[in-house]
Amino acid sequence: SEPLLEIQHLKKYFPIKQGLLNKTVANVKAVDDISLTIGRGETFGLVGESGSGKSTVGRSIVRLTEKTSGDILFKGQDIYKLSGEELRKIRPQMQLIFQDPYSSLNPRVRVGDAIGEALLDHGLAPKNEIRDRVKEVLGLCGLSSYHIDRFPHEFSGGQRQRIGIARALILNPDLIIADEPVSALDVSIQAQIINLFRKLQEDRGLTYLFISHDLSVVEHLCTRIGVMYLGTMMETGSRDELFKNPLHPYTKALLSAVPVPIPKLKRERIVLKGDIPSPVNPPSGCKFHTRCPFAVERCKSEVPEFRNVGSDHFVACHLV
Ligand code: SF4
Ligand code: MG
Repeated sequence: SEPLLEIQHLKKYFPIKQGLLNKTVANVKAVDDISLTIGRGETFGLVGESGSGKSTVGRSIVRLTEKTSGDILFKGQDIYKLSGEELRKIRPQMQLIFQDPYSSLNPRVRVGDAIGEALLDHGLAPKNEIRDRVKEVLGLCGLSSYHIDRFPHEFSGGQRQRIGIARALILNPDLIIADEPVSALDVSIQAQIINLFRKLQEDRGLTYLFISHDLSVVEHLCTRIGVMYLGTMMETGSRDELFKNPLHPYTKALLSAVPVPIPKLKRERIVLKGDIPSPVNPPSGCKFHTRCPFAVERCKSEVPEFRNVGSDHFVACHLV
């Protein structure tokens, strides 16, 4: 399908400043040269441990954080080259959903008003139509118009995430970036919210960038998956390719932690030593070498190239 979002060599460094002169003494390399393309109607799962930079990718797309370098194209337009007016027009088309929608809901604002607010702000509907539009999205998100005048604290975690989704959906976006949208929820509720994402995609032809630390969450929703480690993409491929034929040791380690329903498919368990290193001074060569059970000498000095190994499967590892 035609690309909706293209990210080319994205970098986001956060400078660490020190002293009276406020000199930059180091950089947190949160995102360190990431490229990915998401086709219209696709669901791209961006996976990695916390601190891998995946949220920063999402925030750079909607410009909640400003990139350091690289290009982000939405519908072929470089979103960092748009004028203020053009950006305002395009903003509703890309919506970000957070892990905890409660933190972005004002406790004193009725949810109907919170959901309708965005429509009003963007001038996308006349005032007298807003209540009907809110009722409509509440219904689409599995809530009812009965909830419209309630306050955020009256809802459960799963319902609050439905409110978060409704608030994004009312703007009729093309792209939804969902950052750990089910991580704070009970497993039973997670499945309901994932089913809601899937249903909305079928009904509305939405495209998703779905960010998660949990491969089992993206497994049933995503068409393509990218695995990030310390700001770098280690492997990308179709969901089937990645689950059946993972090539990067880090992907294998993440997958080996995912329970398999059929015991004979049991994957070799790979346990990683230590924690994810600091992104301030990431390891030289392959950034994963300090934790990789298969590391060889050259991994410490040579950065592995991100190579296409066939069927649109890319991997950055010297041993592949
Ligand atoms: Fe492991 Fe070396 Fe491959 Fe990096 S390049 S994943 S350290 S084997
Ligand atoms: Mg995060």
